[in-house]
Amino acid sequence: MNLAEMVQAGLNRRSADPEQALEILRSPDEMTMPIVAAAGRLRRRFFGNRVRLNYLVNLKSGLCPEDCSYCSQRLGSRADIMTYSWADPKTVDEAVEAGIAGGARRVCLVASGHGPSRRDVDRVSALVADLKSRHPGVEVCVCLGFVDDEKAATLHRAGADAYNHNANTSRSHYGAICSTHSYQDRMDTVEVLKRNGLSPCSGVIAGMGETDEELVDVIWDLRRHQVDSVPVNFLLPFEGTPLQGQGRELTPQRCLRILSMVRFIHPDAEVRAAAGREMHLRTMQPLALEVVNSIFLGDYLTSEGAAGTKDLDMIRDAGFVPEGQAEASLAEPTEVPIRHRGIGSRLPANA
Ligand code: SF4
Repeated sequence: MNLAEMVQAGLNRRSADPEQALEILRSPDEMTMPIVAAAGRLRRRFFGNRVRLNYLVNLKSGLCPEDCSYCSQRLGSRADIMTYSWADPKTVDEAVEAGIAGGARRVCLVASGHGPSRRDVDRVSALVADLKSRHPGVEVCVCLGFVDDEKAATLHRAGADAYNHNANTSRSHYGAICSTHSYQDRMDTVEVLKRNGLSPCSGVIAGMGETDEELVDVIWDLRRHQVDSVPVNFLLPFEGTPLQGQGRELTPQRCLRILSMVRFIHPDAEVRAAAGREMHLRTMQPLALEVVNSIFLGDYLTSEGAAGTKDLDMIRDAGFVPEGQAEASLAEPTEVPIRHRGIGSRLPANA
């Protein structure tokens, strides 16, 4: 593996090829730090020492008719999550304000389900317009499932900057994790977003039984689709879902190599250490900041993250700075802390 050559290519915005990406994934643990340092050169070239903070707001939780096997909100999930239909605008506002006060640069408005109805799109568009009128410097990302051109255009007109629609896993592994829609459905939606002016955010969940080749394949496909932002989730093996107990191969060292592999394929894109970083990277989280330039602040959709202030301390302690709005735990491996605060509960949001 010639790291110097890969860095040089990345500095010129050229992706590592699949063979090089595989070599990174399969490197021994003692090579992880040199790989992180090399990937860090690309991160610092394109993003300096800034860390973008994203804040998730779960507008509608659970009760999804789809059967994505990793998801605590899926059809038939027995995970002990909070379930609710559309949160009222005042509750959403409170959550949004908590996230922005905590330092979020981007707010992600998310709802479970196959995709939004026309009425749902209007409802979310009103939330987006309201948020942008109060905080024009904050980016808004929407994640509502499958949308057509008309719905995507409506959200963009309302002020949405981006739309998240994850690939999650490779085309060849997709049938093993979901039967109610296909990989191609997801990639077609990414193209809908792009042609309607929404910045495409699409990433993966590592640790779902995919092979190394499949992990590289999906990351490469996302590069072909020219996504702007790549969230890398590490499987949260929710009890009561088919993937309960999986993801044990995700050691902190492997997670760092996965993030580095993504950086080498997407040298100039936003790469985010997303859900599962606390559980799988554990004490290595600050090192991940050498590779990624983006994390979620606070809680996830149905699980609890670290206290926002703790993450801000980690960022500063590691020598990074949270990206401003005007500028640019050791958990048990099988225990997922279910969110019981924020929207859907009587407790304040974690921010
Ligand atoms: S990932 Fe989305 S579409 Fe799939 S089950 Fe969960 S909420 Fe539904």
